[in-house]
Amino acid sequence: MVLKTTPYWWEQSPRPKTETVALPTSIDVAVIGAGFTGLCTALSLARGGASVIVFEAGVLGCGASTVNGGMVGPSFHKLGIDGLKNKYGVDRANAILRESVGFIDYLDDFLAAEGIEAEFVRAGRFRGALRPLHYDAMARDLEGLQKAVGVEGDMVSKSEQHQETGSPIFHGGLVYHRDGGLDPAMYHDGLARTVRDAGVTIAPETAVTALRKSSAGFELTTVRGTINAGQVAVCTNGYTGAVTQDLRRRVLPLRSAMIATAPLDPTLMKTLMPKARVYGDSRRLVAYYRPSPDGSRILFGGRGSGLADNSAANFRILHRSMIAVYPQLSEVATDHVWSGLVAYTFDHAPHIGRFQGGALDGAFYAMGYCGSGVARSSYFGSKLGLKMLGDPNGITAFDDLDFETRPLYGGNPWFMPALLMWHRIADRMGL
Ligand SMILES: Cc1cc2nc3c(=O)[nH]c(=O)nc-3n(C[C@H](O)[C@H](O)[C@H](O)COP(=O)(O)OP(=O)(O)OC[C@H]3O[C@@H](n4cnc5c(N)ncnc54)[C@H](O)[C@@H]3O)c2cc1C
Repeated sequence: MVLKTTPYWWEQSPRPKTETVALPTSIDVAVIGAGFTGLCTALSLARGGASVIVFEAGVLGCGASTVNGGMVGPSFHKLGIDGLKNKYGVDRANAILRESVGFIDYLDDFLAAEGIEAEFVRAGRFRGALRPLHYDAMARDLEGLQKAVGVEGDMVSKSEQHQETGSPIFHGGLVYHRDGGLDPAMYHDGLARTVRDAGVTIAPETAVTALRKSSAGFELTTVRGTINAGQVAVCTNGYTGAVTQDLRRRVLPLRSAMIATAPLDPTLMKTLMPKARVYGDSRRLVAYYRPSPDGSRILFGGRGSGLADNSAANFRILHRSMIAVYPQLSEVATDHVWSGLVAYTFDHAPHIGRFQGGALDGAFYAMGYCGSGVARSSYFGSKLGLKMLGDPNGITAFDDLDFETRPLYGGNPWFMPALLMWHRIADRMGL
């Protein structure tokens, strides 16, 4: 079987051919990046009466937004409830948690209101515990989240977990009932249509190569000409480059990769994923898996190798990881492997706001979703657009969190291989 190196999602939703659009000489707002963040930002702005152009360096949907696992949840802050309270204080921490619970409802309502079809199904998420200790920690976290923000979840004991998963490796787990999965490329295509219908110009294959402050706001140089914009929104997440260096040095790009099995026997699918939820587990080096929306195959994702798209290495890592979770798949063919870049941050929080100082003074941004960005980027994008319009509905609990960098860090996370290796060893040792 030929192993394709394009996303499984692109079989049904191939990337559209670029139609060259005329560039205006000036515009109210220029958005850099046409993923979920950039498109949702543009939509809010256009609905608020602004003229908007979205610049995309590659073909439409070449970033993370059409290649991800499509798994949607609240993405609770990786610091945990206590970490959040220590860092931001009780009130801010509770506000962040409350808002996070709402991300998935926001996306659900948004898709329905805009009539965007994305095969969104909220069948819940099962998270397996790889050690009894992890199970106890999950139970404590769930109790905390239930008390703080009423999260709907249940612990599942080892003796009952066959109802949730056909994997033999877990010591029980946790179900979040309100999570779900969608087809990200279908969502992105529908979103791009909606954004264009709202009057926004989308310019694919038009990389912004320079950005400087001007009397009108900003002057953007692109590979197809120069344009003046009153305001700029930087929505480049894992692909943030030297053009916006002050933001690049605040995010850590990491490669996330996925494989798709060939269609499986329906009885085997039912055994492996009995309730067709989305899945993850308690390891440090994240792994995520789910059935395809038609229920025919398994899509399995995790950390890729290095920053370049090394399909062969990614395939080896993910295939090994998938067989460890589901030994039943050892003889099954895999027909797709693909990957994209996500953006982590030094404080594990996503960031939204208006940059102050330096070459980007006054530019708006939303990024740093730490690998969980389907709902977050949509929500943050819509809020960013409102914020740029001066609409108080654009206020979020995440506003103006200190967007940290580190001395000597310029945007190349050279230390990541060593850190990932440490997490891999810690996973093996069950730490
Ligand atoms: C393999 C994989 C699996 C994932 N799985 C999940 C999941 O299951 N659930 C989940 O919640 N999240 C997941 N994510 C994360 C999620 O996809 C991202 O957080 C989200 O899509 C980010 O959207 P975005 O619009 O901010 O960035 P992107 O979609 O990455 O878009 C940024 C765009 O900016 C463009 N750009 C950069 N520089 C320039 C420039 N100078 N000029 C013009 N354009 C520029 C890039 O070309 C890119 O298209 C996954 C990511 C990957 C890669």
